[in-house]
Amino acid sequence: MNSSILIVDDDDAIRSTAEEFLELSGYSTISSSSGEEALGLLKYYQPDIVLTDISMHGMSGLELTRTIRTLYPTVEVIVMTGYIADHSYEEAVNAGASDFIFKPFRFEELNLRIKRVLREITLKKQHAEAIKKLEELAVTDGLTGLYNQRYFYQQLKAEIERCLRYKSPLSIILFDIDHFKKFNDTYGHLEGDNVLMAVAKIVGSCLRAMDSAYRYGGEEFTVILPETKLDQACIVGDRIRKSFSQETFNPMPVNGKTPVKESCTISLGVTQFKEEDTVITFVKRADQAMYQSKKSGRNRLTSLPGSSPHIPDPLQMTV
Ligand code: GH3
Ligand code: MG
Ligand code: MG
Repeated sequence: MNSSILIVDDDDAIRSTAEEFLELSGYSTISSSSGEEALGLLKYYQPDIVLTDISMHGMSGLELTRTIRTLYPTVEVIVMTGYIADHSYEEAVNAGASDFIFKPFRFEELNLRIKRVLREITLKKQHAEAIKKLEELAVTDGLTGLYNQRYFYQQLKAEIERCLRYKSPLSIILFDIDHFKKFNDTYGHLEGDNVLMAVAKIVGSCLRAMDSAYRYGGEEFTVILPETKLDQACIVGDRIRKSFSQETFNPMPVNGKTPVKESCTISLGVTQFKEEDTVITFVKRADQAMYQSKKSGRNRLTSLPGSSPHIPDPLQMTV
């Protein structure tokens, strides 16, 4: 797609020649005869570059540049001024312009300056994308694509603060694959990895938009459920448990020749945040609940109550 330039000048002749030259050079252009009109256009359409005169009736080019910097940070500005005008390069740069050109200018020079600014735009975009990618990688588990433990604690702290401020309910689910060591020993680590990836897919399909899932550790996972009471969190947890137990795998035994049909189960612990909880006591209670599920036979969900008075104590949901 062609790069786009908005030309702002109250001199009709300069505006139309610049427009003609830039169109011929392969840019798509629009133009405007005042800073005010340009700001009106920018509300609906943001070009890559605004090329603006400094001295205009009404809003000056420097004022326009400052406003663009504040409202449209991704739009670059090149300012034009006459030799006799007492505006300096420093003034333009301080206002936020990316470049500055004296009138009358040679169009070849203008073109070179535009190309340099466009290169900067591309570099800035690549830089922003790389930072975004790194930020995503820092919070993502490589195997499952779920968020990692570090991000779990970061998000949990934020949710606890929100829950205390707005007195809204908050629940978490912690679960662990049953007898996963045996699965790995029988079918090998790679087949085990397929199971972990399936967990991520299934959990994703069972959650509501506001819930988030994390790989807590090797074969342990957590879910944060904001605005959710214990009974509702148990429903979500049991949905995950059922879906996962219905999933079939076709792993190849380590010393076998043909794949076999297998299924796996998980044990879950669910709890709701209490006002007196810390992050640690909250997660520990979910862990205790999960441990009870393991102890009482696996493939089940145990909940330890939070603060809601209507929740029976203790609520034990079994298969
Ligand atoms: P339980 O039902 O009590 O949870 O028994 P378990 O065998 O699942 O528990 P244990 O803690 O003894 O074993 C956990 C296993 O998880 C051992 C380890 O090899 C496996 N595991 C941890 N991380 C990964 C991984 O990234 N990939 C695979 N394939 N296995 C993993
Ligand atoms: Mg396990
Ligand atoms: Mg474990």
